[in-house]
Amino acid sequence: MRLKLVAGNWKMHGGIERNRDLLSIVVSGTAGLQKAACAVCVPYPYLSQVQSLLKNTHVSWGAQNISQHDMGAYTGEVSADMLTDFCCYYVIVGHSERRTLYGENSRTVSLKFKVAQDAGLVPILCVGETLEQREAGFTEQVVREQLDAVIGLVGVDALARSVLAYEPIWAIGTGKTATPQQAQDVHVFIRNIVASYNVKVAAELRILYGGSVKASNAAELFAMLDIDGGLIGGASLVAEEFISICLAAQN
Ligand code: PEP
Repeated sequence: MRLKLVAGNWKMHGGIERNRDLLSIVVSGTAGLQKAACAVCVPYPYLSQVQSLLKNTHVSWGAQNISQHDMGAYTGEVSADMLTDFCCYYVIVGHSERRTLYGENSRTVSLKFKVAQDAGLVPILCVGETLEQREAGFTEQVVREQLDAVIGLVGVDALARSVLAYEPIWAIGTGKTATPQQAQDVHVFIRNIVASYNVKVAAELRILYGGSVKASNAAELFAMLDIDGGLIGGASLVAEEFISICLAAQN
């Protein structure tokens, strides 16, 4: 039985006061969560604040990106050790905004996945296709290439210490959600790829869905057999929405 996870991706949003208000409502609103886990992935400058607000609570925290390098002359980058200094649990790697806006390819993403894991962080690996790729019938090919790059570098067993997120790019921040069946189909496809290497890892792997998840559609998505929670962008910034999504994950 896979424990569902709802992870918020704040993207480049937040502020000292706003974070405090948001997290205090989220922590109390999700206090009754037993059959699901929840986390927030926040901008780097707030990691210290979020660590002090969330330590000793049931809400985990993490970052949204990581350098593939350990240290050195990489202006503006943040290393795995820096994230562990703030007791991050998760780090998102390969978010489509990193792939499309910052030119991260599957090789870079897999290196990031590896450094994160080597430092003891749990990578949340995002994969997903554009609208053009879906319409041209390339969804599976794209997702397979993104996944194979990681498996090729770290081996399939490493996926046991990670979370996957299927995020169709056409659904991110657009208000357009994949139907539960569309998402389920890709989740099964992903799980089958992993199962072709290791059935146990596949059975235990958490695969989140991300793309315009809201309080109003979370329950139907999470009801699908292979959807193990969500990676939540916009709705993670609205306390009541995020709480409802977390609660939907445990029903
Ligand atoms: C995301 O940022 O990963 C995401 C899914 O965003 P949204 O929920 O806003 O579509």
